[in-house]
Amino acid sequence: MKLILLGAPGAGKGTVAKLLTKLDGSVQISTGDILRGAVAAGSELGKKAEAAMKAGDLVSDDLIMGIMGERLKQDDCKAGYLLDGFPRTIPQAEALKVLLESMGEKLDCAVEIDVARDVILDRLTTRRTCTGCGEIYNVKSNPPKQEGICDKCGEPVVQRDDETEEAISNRLNVYNEQTAPLVDFYKKEGMLLSVQATSSDAVIDAIKNKLGI
Ligand code: AMP
Repeated sequence: MKLILLGAPGAGKGTVAKLLTKLDGSVQISTGDILRGAVAAGSELGKKAEAAMKAGDLVSDDLIMGIMGERLKQDDCKAGYLLDGFPRTIPQAEALKVLLESMGEKLDCAVEIDVARDVILDRLTTRRTCTGCGEIYNVKSNPPKQEGICDKCGEPVVQRDDETEEAISNRLNVYNEQTAPLVDFYKKEGMLLSVQATSSDAVIDAIKNKLGI
């Protein structure tokens, strides 16, 4: 599978991507995870991205295309990939198209995961993330067994810096202004699958149906 997962922050792109990796060994590529890893490691990339991320703004297209240009050429991508959080702007989508053409590759489709804004707000303010392995928890519906400690790797589970109310509200505005136009972009390309996401399983079923798997 070669898919783009589109949707507002908190729409469930990461959860759906993780479930899809189990179907056929495609890899999940999350630009957010790559950038958070770079910030935690204190690398040059992390230093360039940190301030924009904390405010809920987007990192520059050039920086992102630099990361993705290298990432998509790695060996594990031969099994397929699920792009989670990328592309996020029209220039990124256009640059991705050129990149894939130069590699002789074609995406199966771009999946829009459509979730109501009030559901998203509730999810993001109650979401917690493991600083070690990135596992996602929710303080209401899926807390770790021991408060603040990851069940899987034992590292601290925290609220992300960009999950304060102010940053969340900015991220949703940024999504509407810069990323939502990608829905039309992929519709015009004849590649869009739009799913009203009642659950992750419903999204997976719609994707399986579309791809005939
Ligand atoms: P995410 O985990 O996908 O919500 O990403 C967290 C943050 O990383 C975003 O709010 C942006 O600051 C940055 N980021 C992730 N992916 C991209 C992208 N494709 N383009 C620009 N910024 C990105």
